This record gives sequence, C-alpha cells and structure tokens, in this order.
Amino acid sequence: MSDTPKLDFIREIIATDLTSGKHETTVTRFPPEPNGYLHLGHAKSICLNFGIAEEHPNAKCNLRFDDTNPEKEETEYVESIKADVKWLGFDWADDLYFASNYFEFFHDCAVHLINNGLAYVDEESPEEIKLHRGNVQTPGVPSKYRDRSVEQNLEKFADMRAGKFKEGEAVLRAKIGLTSSNMNMRDPVMYRIMHAKHHNTGNDWCIYPMYDFAHPLEDAHEHITHSLCTLEFENHRPLYNWFVENCPVPSTPRQIEFARLSLTYTIMSKRKLLQLVQEGHVSGWDDPRLPTISGIRRRGYPPEAIRHFCKRIGITKYNGTTDVALLEHDIRDHLNPTAPRRMAVLNPLKVVIENFSEEPTTTAVIQNHPQDESFGEREVSLSGEIFIERDDFQEIPEKKYFRLAPEKYVRLRGGPIIQCTGFEKNDSGEITLVCVKLLPNTTGQDSPEGVKCKAAIHWVDAATAVDAEVRLYDRLFTVEDPDAAEGGFLSVLNPESVDTANAKVEASLLLEPAGYSCQFERTGYFVTDSKEHIPGEKAVFNRTVALRDSWGKRR
Ligand code: ATP
Ligand code: MG
Repeated sequence: MSDTPKLDFIREIIATDLTSGKHETTVTRFPPEPNGYLHLGHAKSICLNFGIAEEHPNAKCNLRFDDTNPEKEETEYVESIKADVKWLGFDWADDLYFASNYFEFFHDCAVHLINNGLAYVDEESPEEIKLHRGNVQTPGVPSKYRDRSVEQNLEKFADMRAGKFKEGEAVLRAKIGLTSSNMNMRDPVMYRIMHAKHHNTGNDWCIYPMYDFAHPLEDAHEHITHSLCTLEFENHRPLYNWFVENCPVPSTPRQIEFARLSLTYTIMSKRKLLQLVQEGHVSGWDDPRLPTISGIRRRGYPPEAIRHFCKRIGITKYNGTTDVALLEHDIRDHLNPTAPRRMAVLNPLKVVIENFSEEPTTTAVIQNHPQDESFGEREVSLSGEIFIERDDFQEIPEKKYFRLAPEKYVRLRGGPIIQCTGFEKNDSGEITLVCVKLLPNTTGQDSPEGVKCKAAIHWVDAATAVDAEVRLYDRLFTVEDPDAAEGGFLSVLNPESVDTANAKVEASLLLEPAGYSCQFERTGYFVTDSKEHIPGEKAVFNRTVALRDSWGKRR
C-alpha cells in the first residue's frame, strides 16, 4: 500500500496521460478576463492550475489574460490580477500571455475554416439569427447567406475586417449544422463587429472573436495539455473540440471541467462584485468584507491558509456550496501558531487601582505566545489606572461569571489579582468607573492569603495605551445564499457588516507596520490596515476573524 494521498479526478487523468506517454509533461493555464478583480473562486482555479504545474518535472502554468473583448477590460485589472497570483504564492515565470496577441492567428484560423467550407459570413440581423437558430425542441433553419461560395465568404470576411460593416450587420459563423440538441453547436458565431478601441491592439481590429472560438485556439497555440475550466463549460466542450480539430493548430489540448467554488453568505460573480463596488455598497475592490483576493488580503487572511483551504475542499465534478465557516476555521488554524498575542480593549471601561502606590511593580511580563516560547515575552506597563473590557465587569454577576464584580477577584493577564472595591454610574445608570485594589505579590502566583481566580482578563495601562480604530467585520450578507434572495442580492446586504470600535491598545501596536497580524487576547485575530494604518501616527486594525473560544474556556 502506498501512502500517497488519493488524487482528484483531474490529477488522475494527468497522471494517466504522463504514464501512457500521451504527454511528456503537463502545461496548464489560468486564463482570467481582465474585467474585474479576482475572488476566492479564482483562487481555487489558480491553486489547481499552478498547483499541478508544481507537481511535475518541467511542467508549467501560463498566466494568460483572456482579453478578447475590447469593451470591458482595463489595465488596472491586469495589474491587480498579477499581484493577486503572486500573493497566493505562485509564479508564471516567463509565461505571461495576452490572448489579444493572437488576433492574427485567430484570423488565419477563420480564413482556413472559410476555405474549407466550414465558416460563412451571415448578414442576417442578430434577431433573425436568434430566431432561425430554433430551440431545443425545434431545429434551426438555415440563414439565406449560409450557402455562399468560399470566394464570397472570403470577400465578405475581408470587408468585415476592413470596417465596411457597422456593428450588428454581419458576423462570421461556423458551418456545423442547425439540428444539434446542443445549442452551442448550431452554427455558432465566431466573430462579431465591434468598433471599439482595444487596450492592447488599439484600433487595429474591428472584428473580435467570441470566447468559444478563441479559447481553444489560445490553448492549442500555447501547447496547453489540459485546459481546466468550470462545469458551465461542459456543453461547450464539443465546440471546443470542433475548433481544435478543424483549425490549423499546433497541438491538441483537452478541456476538463470541475465544480466551481461557491461559499455560503458570499457572492462570487465579478459582475455582482463590480456592482457592489460601483454603487458604493463597499469601499472598493479591496474592501475587507469582499471575497476578492485583495479584500481578504487586507482582511489579514494568510495566503497559506487559502491554499490549504483550496486543497482541502478538493476538486470534483459536483457543484455544491461550501460553508464559509470552513474557510474561517482554516484562517484561525494558520493564525494561531503564527500570530503574536497582544492586548487591546475594544470597549474600554476605566479601572482605578486605589492602592497602586503600595505595589512597587510597574510592569507585567507577558508571553507573546502561550504555546511557543520562541515568540519571547514583553514588558507591559501598569499604573494606577487601566482599561478593561466593559463586558468584564458586571454589577450583579450572573451565574458562573468569574470576572470582575463588586467584591470579586479577577486576575489581570500577566499581572496581579485585583479585587473590586466599588464603582460609579452616570445619570443614565451606565457604569463609568470601577475601583479596585490589587493584591500584592500575586503576579505569576496565587495570593498568599489563598485567594484564587478562575479567570484572567486582558487590560491595558491607561497611562501608556494608545487609541486605535478597530473595524469589526461581519458577513456581508444576512442569508446563506444571497444569489437566491427574492429581492436580489442587494436586498440581503447585512447593515451591520462593519462595526467600528474606538479601542485602547498596547502602545507598541502603534509602531507596527501596515499588514501586521496579531491576536488580541480573548478577542480575535487582527491586522493593521494596509491603507489607513500609519505607523507612529494612527493605529487602524481590521478584524480578520473572531476567536471561536469564549472567555470561559480561557485563562
Ligand atoms: P465570474 O463568474 O466571477 O464572472 P469568470 O469565470 O467570468 O468569473 P474569468 O476571468 O473568466 O472569470 O475566470 C478565470 C478562470 O477562473 C476561469 O478558468 C474560470 O473557470 C475560473 N473561475 C471563475 N470563477 C470560479 C469559481 N467560482 N470557482 C472556480 N473557478 C472559477
Ligand atoms: Mg468568464
């Protein structure tokens, strides 16, 4: 028995192709259209394609921008996509391509099909073409232009290219048949006219290839062995193969489909993400609540955790929805061993230590990581006034409440035991101040008088703590499947998806660089914001993920 983990069905196919000698190595590609920012679904595809390339000698994965539509693409997206792939930890080396560099090749293939009687210029209107194509029950009827001669077609296609037609006046169609039960095979359109400026080719072209025609040719041109795409392309595969078989291409790629990633409480369509950004429902493509790669990066998700998550959910043929809690679990799993611990009080309540001058110790020494000594320890100052969480004091303690309450004892994390001696309220009955005394010689040990504490609470020294803006993110949608919401996904936006706390944090945190991750003890994992945190000036934290444990289980 070997202990090699079971391969997914795509890796099985590749292994078989390599063993049989069908291919010497494997070439995959990740082919984003630069019309938006990448999201977690793309991360699944990136991990699959680049992951396979890492697993075989001489294998590679091309990063190819599928920029065949002049109207929707922007260079801003090209740059963001490159940054995202790199951040995930993958490298395309020299294999960066743009489909728009193959326009001449696509054109040659089209002329080849015309010459073989396999393509024709159709001057019917888009409405007529749609009507004449029929539907699943009814076969299509031929266009009156379907039986033009090769010469006529060559001439008309040249006219299309030369700009002699307006948009919608002519298309080039493959001549396959009009009776297939697969609608994609009914004389599909290969080229349409678009008088639009392209980001790469400028005004050189006014005919642009359709995805179904261009994609197989791009793959074949790059000698892609296995072209991996999501399941919705399954019934485009016969057409993919038809173009590969009938065009003068240098290789025969094989299309294999796998299930796309969808997550609960998340939308994963570029079009809908764009709408959220453009209509200002979020602060931009990198809003930490979005499932975009730039959003989760700003949120503090570690790239290793994303890669691990993609591996764990695996590759299958069945579309399903993954619980977003599984992703959050992986995020915690990766941050737990790597994030140093710090103290931050998100909802501060001032505590006066009445007998402070009696206690000579003015620092507490605190482990930076409870399980890993290599993180070292730090000194935290303690003075006569501290802040604790509002939740860590109850005027009338409920059952099993082991934190601060009148006359009760609690330990300050890494410091001494304190006992509540009193509190103050304002006119509206809110607690504004708590008074305590500290028990001498209880730092790091039980009280000589035998007082024991069941809980340790976090705190910061009021004399040295700094203010921090802390954004507490929650799910962006209130329902599991926002795409299915009756009123549309915008109707189920969570109005409480971000809550901003004016926190008091350890002074050292102000000096940390942007992108610094740590655990706020007993609260969650946090990261300094890449845009608004200014070291030495302004502390701004984003909550990456809350801790699963409740206070009761921790000491
Ligand atoms: P969207 O559906 O969000 O608009 P797209 O498929 O139009 O995305 P592309 O830029 O064309 O976006 O996608 C690049 C690659 O990423 C494609 O191979 C596509 O199949 C894959 N991909 C896109 N979304 C997902 C997903 N949710 N899960 C897995 N792979 C995906
Ligand atoms: Mg697409």
